[in-house]
Amino acid sequence: MTVGRILAAKGRDVVTIEPHRTIADAAELLARRSIGAIVVTDHTGAVRGIVSERDIVRMLSSKGPGALKEDVAAWMTQNVVTTREGTTVPSLMEQMTTGRFRHIPVVEEGRLVGIVSIGDVVKHRLAEMETEQKALREYIATA
Ligand code: AMP
Repeated sequence: MTVGRILAAKGRDVVTIEPHRTIADAAELLARRSIGAIVVTDHTGAVRGIVSERDIVRMLSSKGPGALKEDVAAWMTQNVVTTREGTTVPSLMEQMTTGRFRHIPVVEEGRLVGIVSIGDVVKHRLAEMETEQKALREYIATA
């Protein structure tokens, strides 16, 4: 199972925001789209960062609600770990575990082509395990 297979099933829509928009805009977008992270892109579409609900909680805890007016650029993570469509799911899970984040944007030749969350990974792993179990049950029944 690869990242490309996950994207083929879930779609390639990625919610993005520009770095000069406010944290309040990012919070509104996270809530409206029921997601946990937004990829920050510039006017060319290049990935500049990622802002997740954790960044907003961190901001609120250290600065209070007044900081909701600050730019996304001030609170996003700049060094974004990205992946490619050919990456296998076990290696994606390793990247998420090592980096302690739950979202990885998918980039091909500098272009953002999707995003995978820990929820997508768990969903596909469960489906895979169910298929394996069914095959084993059928094998045992006919052996
Ligand atoms: P998350 O678990 O995805 O909500 O993110 C936890 C922290 O990691 C936040 O500070 C995010 O900005 C950051 N983060 C999320 N995804 C990535 C990523 N792919 N690369 C680097 N940092 C990330």
